[in-house]
Amino acid sequence: MTQFSKVLKILEERFSRDLPAHIKEDPFRVLIGCILSARTKDENTDKAYEALFREFADARSLAQADLSRIQALIKPVNYYKTKAKRIKEAASFIIEKFKGRVPKSRKALMRIPGIGPKCADIVLSYGFGKPTVAVDTHVETVAKRLGVAPERARYEEVKRAIEQATPLSLRARVNDLLVVFGREICHKNNPKCSVCPVFEFCVWEGKWKRVNAQRKAMKNP
Ligand code: SF4
Repeated sequence: MTQFSKVLKILEERFSRDLPAHIKEDPFRVLIGCILSARTKDENTDKAYEALFREFADARSLAQADLSRIQALIKPVNYYKTKAKRIKEAASFIIEKFKGRVPKSRKALMRIPGIGPKCADIVLSYGFGKPTVAVDTHVETVAKRLGVAPERARYEEVKRAIEQATPLSLRARVNDLLVVFGREICHKNNPKCSVCPVFEFCVWEGKWKRVNAQRKAMKNP
């Protein structure tokens, strides 16, 4: 078993969860869920997602919807005005260029307005069940601290490194495990190293400094 497989096993025992609504349905809904989720908490993304799809069931109805109505339905998410515009544009593009079906190729997905590498990989992974890894800010931070990806690596390099280090059987799980671990323990600015379940695997040099600071804070609350 590789070091990273051991890490994933530990994380799986502790951070496995039911997936939020916006990433567990058909590819079109996963794609819209990804647009909604940027810089927004899962609970607010799910609220907006459910309100939106209660009224507009598919790409065709969203493409024809009034922008102001989309805005009203997705108000719980941050940047809802920009996201409403993106959703309408993406739905229209899918109708016009792909006959209403979300494409299965990464290159074609990235032609859709508002869809970058991360959302394309989310759709491939969660929508189509392909063994690809989507990299968000938590995934990137954790992968670098655990020595899976080099410190200066950008999106594509981080993605490749995680995919190479992850057995096929765990590819579908790795994104969500690292996201939840990143949110709960390995925050970008304030990691809780003193309670980290994978401390021994971490190569981040600041970890001891964090542990000492956290111990001191506990002694002198
Ligand atoms: S020891 Fe700290 S920095 Fe390293 S993985 Fe754990 S929480 Fe993240």
